[in-house]
Amino acid sequence: MVGAAMACALGHEPNFAKKKITLLESGPEKVFELTKTYKNRVSTINPASVALLDSFGAWDKILQMRCQPVKRMQVWESCSDSLLTFNHPDLSLELAYVVENDVLLSAITDSLKECPQVEVLYDTKVSNVDIPMLNDPSAKDSLLTISLNNGRILRTHLLIGADGSNSLVRKTCNFPTVQWEYDQAGVVATLQLSGEAENTVAWQRFLPSGPIAMLPLSNSLSSMVWSTSPTHAKKLLTMTKEEFIDAVNHAFWHDDKKNLIAQNMEKSLEKFLDKIVPGGTSMRQLPPTVIGVDEGSCAMFPLGLNLSSHYVRQRVALIGDAAHRVHPLAGQGVNLGFADVTCLQSMLTKAMNEGADLGSLNILLAYETERQRQIIPIVAAIDGLQKLYGTDWTPAVVLRSLGLQATNAATFLKDKLIQKASSS
Ligand SMILES: Cc1cc2nc3c(=O)[nH]c(=O)nc-3n(C[C@H](O)[C@H](O)[C@H](O)COP(=O)(O)OP(=O)(O)OC[C@H]3O[C@@H](n4cnc5c(N)ncnc54)[C@H](O)[C@@H]3O)c2cc1C
Repeated sequence: MVGAAMACALGHEPNFAKKKITLLESGPEKVFELTKTYKNRVSTINPASVALLDSFGAWDKILQMRCQPVKRMQVWESCSDSLLTFNHPDLSLELAYVVENDVLLSAITDSLKECPQVEVLYDTKVSNVDIPMLNDPSAKDSLLTISLNNGRILRTHLLIGADGSNSLVRKTCNFPTVQWEYDQAGVVATLQLSGEAENTVAWQRFLPSGPIAMLPLSNSLSSMVWSTSPTHAKKLLTMTKEEFIDAVNHAFWHDDKKNLIAQNMEKSLEKFLDKIVPGGTSMRQLPPTVIGVDEGSCAMFPLGLNLSSHYVRQRVALIGDAAHRVHPLAGQGVNLGFADVTCLQSMLTKAMNEGADLGSLNILLAYETERQRQIIPIVAAIDGLQKLYGTDWTPAVVLRSLGLQATNAATFLKDKLIQKASSS
């Protein structure tokens, strides 16, 4: 998604009309047909990503296919009664949209077809990258060489590595990378809800084993991402439909893990906050009941963190999961990648206007500095939340419950969080 969006953004940039852009994809071209059945891989897309997709006409194509607005988010946990809600006043504006990944990719691919200078090579794997500067610092003007699995050789001023969390480009650059696997897997499924009603709320409940989220797809369907231990994830996938539905409803509704100390402290804080911010604590809503699951929609994915210490070197830039992979609990992964695209596009356009070499380290460093300033605190916050909520140890439960409660009452803080999550 991120690499295709990058090619599309540059392909639609008038200054790049005379440049040759090649998008290399090791997989086959996906021909997507919209059917009644929703795909199980979806992304929550923030307003900044919508703006990028809109800039090259892909957003209109998504609207013509399908997506579901999110107007409210409710985050709560199983060990206490604390909760956090986000919405614009009167639910007037969308906080985000839930879009199937295949719909996103199909819209971007269609927009790519409008760019004559972009060549897309499917079933084409990069097998080797030769960066002249790596072995010879004086070779800064030399082009970079890419070897493909079909024997073809390409030479370029700039290689943008959007090759995912296992990035060959990142490894070739020898960038030290902080990485670990969470002892968790993300189980996804398309859930059928009881009754037909406006479905525009994203729900996320933190359980000690990991968060479970329900994201709206249509008035009767939601997409689930349940991060849990790999053993439990495997068990969920082998359950009968009835057992699976019971497990999901139980995860959203049960009160088995309530911590009395945290609940009492939270009640005292609530009384105090009510005095200083009357009406500041928002109403708890109840999530919809799940009554079914779409056939064949359950699948599990490993979850991990990668953070490359550098995103650029002479003639190379990394974007998307190749540079940073995060836990899906905040729905930020692809949004961070799309924000990389917006930033790199603007730096390269500026360089182009100045007649500079697009692969020059100075230009690319400006991209790296700008993005790392944004990304490092977000990656740290997401990882911190994953750890803070991954326990039912009383001091941690008290700390997070009071923190969540106070944040919920502080409108300005919530506005800041919405702003941050909207722009990545
Ligand atoms: C369960 C789950 C739920 C998620 N939910 C959300 C969400 O709600 N919102 C959100 O923002 N993010 C979400 N994410 C994260 C999001 O899916 C990723 O951040 C995103 O897919 C990364 O996109 P990418 O294009 O950078 O990388 P990838 O999707 O990994 O794409 C890399 C591409 O590079 C190609 N490639 C790799 N190596 C080579 C090579 N050598 N030669 C040629 N091509 C190559 C691959 O074929 C692939 O097409 C979720 C992730 C998971 C696991």
